[in-house]
Amino acid sequence: MNRFMTTLTTQVLSLHLRHTFTISRGSEDVADTVLARLTAEGIEALGESAPISRYDEDVAGVARLLESLRLDRVDLRQLDTTLDLLPPHAHGARCALDLALHDLEGKRLGVPVYELFGLDPTKTVETSFTIGIADLDKTIDKTKEASHFPILKVKTGDGREVETLSAIRSVYRGRIRLDANEGWTPETAVAILKQLARFEIEFCEQPIAAGNPAGLRFVKERSPVPIFVDEDSRTLADLARLYGCVDGINIKLVKCGGLREAVRMIHAARAMGMKIMIGCMIESSVLATAAAHITPLVDYADLDGPLLITDDPFEGVRYEGARLCLPDRPGLGVHARSNVAAPAP
Ligand code: MG
Repeated sequence: MNRFMTTLTTQVLSLHLRHTFTISRGSEDVADTVLARLTAEGIEALGESAPISRYDEDVAGVARLLESLRLDRVDLRQLDTTLDLLPPHAHGARCALDLALHDLEGKRLGVPVYELFGLDPTKTVETSFTIGIADLDKTIDKTKEASHFPILKVKTGDGREVETLSAIRSVYRGRIRLDANEGWTPETAVAILKQLARFEIEFCEQPIAAGNPAGLRFVKERSPVPIFVDEDSRTLADLARLYGCVDGINIKLVKCGGLREAVRMIHAARAMGMKIMIGCMIESSVLATAAAHITPLVDYADLDGPLLITDDPFEGVRYEGARLCLPDRPGLGVHARSNVAAPAP
């Protein structure tokens, strides 16, 4: 029996954005996430969730689910059994618990999370840096500010795509990916992507509303730009219906429920010939570092969450230019910055 109490507490992190962040669905200046602190066997482990309103999840609901867990009689090394204490569709809460369990296991064994998965930490990929929707002057300013990044992910879907890409290309020669966040119809998507192909677009994420695989297939068969999905590829269960309809998927830990589900999705997507990106929300270094640990398994990364905020309470993954450098400390390898006050008990 454990000599130590097992406890799980939560804390809301309010993360302030460097720039107002606008996508085709709306804008925000502050993003709240839920930090989970799991203490077991005298070890403190961390997890995080950045609940996604599009899937009807929020900070309060995720925190409530996590706080309701009774973990004292559970063998926390049995990860799936422990995760199944949460409802199957509570992906946001499952993500925070999954991360904390991996952090705990790594700390218990004295190995980094990438080593738990048998991965080579030198095989991480480069991350893109996100440019939100803004007017043309602001877009040019933000592009110049990010011009040292070799890859930009440009949020679009607002009807001004050609002007925006033309402005960006006037000051930036690196790789560009687009994310329309469900902003177009299938017909519009094809027409716009044909116009945008001249700007050398690597791929376009979620051109149309989720839930329309036939529409995706229509776009993929006609678009000169490869088609990825994000809102459509929430969990493993979504992938079969996307077979043949897309060129790749964006996996996010908080969308699918954590590292275990993400790795299942990666292998299934590989079997279906899909390219794989791992992405993020506006989030602290806890979540982004967890995702970074499995980037040796993927083709592309969009893990700039900590770079978009001014007050990340944690440090973990480092950015050497755009390359993700994994911490080699046990577990997630994340720790609080020294200037962060300890949370209220
Ligand atoms: Mg997206």
